[in-house]
Amino acid sequence: NPSQLDAAGPKPRHNTTRVMVGNVAVGGGAPIVVQSMTNTDTADVEGTIAQVAALSRAGSEMVRITVDRDEAAAAVPHIRDGLRKRGITTPLIGDFHYIGHKLLADHPACAEALDKYRINPGNVGFKDKRDKQFTDIVETAIKYGKAVRIGANWGSLDQELLTHLMEENANSAAPLDARAVTREAMVQSALLSAKRAEEIGLPKTRMVLSAKVSAVQDLIAVYQTLASRSDYAIHLGLTEAGMGSKGIVASSAALGILLQQGIGDTIRISLTPEPGGDRTLEVQVAQELLQTMGFRTFVPLVAACPGCGRTTSTTFQELARSIQDFIRDEMPNWKAQYPGVEQLNVAVMGCIVNGPGESKHADIGISLPGTGEAPAAPVFVDGKKFKTLRGPAIAQDFKALVIDYIEQ
Ligand code: SF4
Repeated sequence: NPSQLDAAGPKPRHNTTRVMVGNVAVGGGAPIVVQSMTNTDTADVEGTIAQVAALSRAGSEMVRITVDRDEAAAAVPHIRDGLRKRGITTPLIGDFHYIGHKLLADHPACAEALDKYRINPGNVGFKDKRDKQFTDIVETAIKYGKAVRIGANWGSLDQELLTHLMEENANSAAPLDARAVTREAMVQSALLSAKRAEEIGLPKTRMVLSAKVSAVQDLIAVYQTLASRSDYAIHLGLTEAGMGSKGIVASSAALGILLQQGIGDTIRISLTPEPGGDRTLEVQVAQELLQTMGFRTFVPLVAACPGCGRTTSTTFQELARSIQDFIRDEMPNWKAQYPGVEQLNVAVMGCIVNGPGESKHADIGISLPGTGEAPAAPVFVDGKKFKTLRGPAIAQDFKALVIDYIEQ
């Protein structure tokens, strides 16, 4: 049925309330924002500045930092100043647990320097003092004109609320399974806290909600429910996603499905870095997810075939890697450099089977010679054969053609 093909594509974005976090708009139809989080000790001012700078350079549009004790809270204004001196204005989000109310009260310069406070409704304080401590943080946000993220988390869910819902469920005529009740508790924890924050006086235009879970299917169900019951701006993330390909696949599967359904105004891909690994990988994965799904464009998109027995040993892989690295590392500000160029698709293909065809679909593409093929690499521009590259400098020559193409 061809009309099914016509209907392909994501659902319209869920209609949420726009929130300004520093100079970045979240929700209300704004582009989906990429964010990340440092893993430095926030009390280490220089180390944290360096990592926030690296994450910002990689494309993180907001960065969250842990504020867990007095030394960390005291460091926050220095981190903000140090970043500003380097010309970095990326909004900073303070991640508070247990004693956020106290840290914000004792360190007004920290409260002022941050752009958003993350409150975990599951651990904002002990039972009898919870409302007061929650109120204190929200009132600080109101006083300083800051945004708040109410971030429920499966691993630190409000136990009082969960127990209440479990008891209610046990007494109902058609009880749900325990996991479904836990999902409901996640959603209610976020929504009840948001309602309470509004009662205290924080407007919806300053609130972002999240409800992170570590299992893909639970996460999808929780966020679908959250979106169906409210119009708060939504932060998406799969918590404890894991290391390496497992974390990338799980996050991409969960977030990809939700984004396709129009849910999510800002995303974080939470990856456990390999020892000594690069923290910026989570930013790269978030950008690639948004770009491959067609929501945003960050870097020129490189389509490369996987290579097979028809490719000439490692030459093809080296060329494909060299061109990919060139585009990622040397053209990070390509949109600023070349205003008016919104997107660019580059194809790097390994032989004549799919090479010319795929290259014709790209803006600019190269079909490298496969095993037994003549040592010539036809280049296609805007769907037409443009020229043929030969000799030892094919990669260099092709990079020059990509630059020429963009400039023209
Ligand atoms: Fe193999 Fe050629 Fe297909 Fe690349 S385009 S995977 S080299 S057959």
